[in-house]
Amino acid sequence: MIIVLKPNIKKSEETAVLKEIRKLGYRPHIIRGVERVVIGAVGDERTQHTLETLITWPQVEKVMPVQKRYKLVSREAHPRNSTIRVGDVVIGGRKLVVMAGPCSVESEKQLMQTAKAVKKAGAQILRGGAFKPRTSPYDFQGLGEKGLKLLAKARAETGMPVITELLSEEHVDLVAEYADILQIGTRNAQNFQLLIAAAKTGKPILLKRGMSMRIEEWLLAGEYILANENPNLMFCERGIRTFENYTRNTLDLSAVPIVKEESHLPVVVDPSQGCGRASLVATLCRGAVALGADALLIEVHPNPAEAWSDGAQQVTFDGFAKLMRDLRPFIEAAGRE
Ligand code: PEP
Ligand code: MN
Repeated sequence: MIIVLKPNIKKSEETAVLKEIRKLGYRPHIIRGVERVVIGAVGDERTQHTLETLITWPQVEKVMPVQKRYKLVSREAHPRNSTIRVGDVVIGGRKLVVMAGPCSVESEKQLMQTAKAVKKAGAQILRGGAFKPRTSPYDFQGLGEKGLKLLAKARAETGMPVITELLSEEHVDLVAEYADILQIGTRNAQNFQLLIAAAKTGKPILLKRGMSMRIEEWLLAGEYILANENPNLMFCERGIRTFENYTRNTLDLSAVPIVKEESHLPVVVDPSQGCGRASLVATLCRGAVALGADALLIEVHPNPAEAWSDGAQQVTFDGFAKLMRDLRPFIEAAGRE
């Protein structure tokens, strides 16, 4: 920690700060400038005995951490890329992974048709929400356990692993019984008790970025998963709230190279929630791949006009097949398969 003292303070005020730093178990190193004193406090910043409260002292001007607040998710902790294995699929390796399927599981027919269509077009993982976090309590809330059972059936028929959202702590065991990957949604990205409960299942976790989350907060939310002994975490950019309203959210593609630089964990991009408009999804996928995304999460529906949720952003089977074909040169140009 770096502690900057105010200019022209009394020697006794400086001594009091040094005493406090030593009391908290740190070694102070003093840099004496012309006007002010800067103290480097050396020690483990992961303790409860935080030096940050020194900011409340009248003689202290600034307190700045030297270390990053996230440890286990950081590239410093683990310089090489981490990969996550889900059945035969490896996320974070050379091969770009595509997870696709409907926003919500609606019926057996809708899910089976979609699962087969996305598999045929080259998707490796099936997505589908059974518990849906809807803005209005009057909107379709998901089929619940029935939806999970349909996902398991689609997995059995197609061989594709499934990803579905875990909405509440109450459903951890139920969802973990059916899902291959637990999705933590944007609205729960800082529900720390849910993150801990999800981590404890040992299942791979896809952590969406909270719609108002800074990247540091997102990485720290991910830290909860690794700190609870689950290394199988991937971060998913899905757009953030800005003033722009031509799109549902502003897909922050700059987060992809930033998180790849800061963390060893795989990065996924969800252009569907990211823009809210089917016509933009293919282009945003190309951008995501070019910027180094390890996987894509795409909403596909047999008839988006009749979807029970997120109709405007879901692509048709033909649209998805074309998107996958058009993506190929971008995957190759990004040095992936
Ligand atoms: C979804 O994937 O359908 C979803 C609800 O995602 P988000 O949490 O990003 O809104
Ligand atoms: Mn959706």
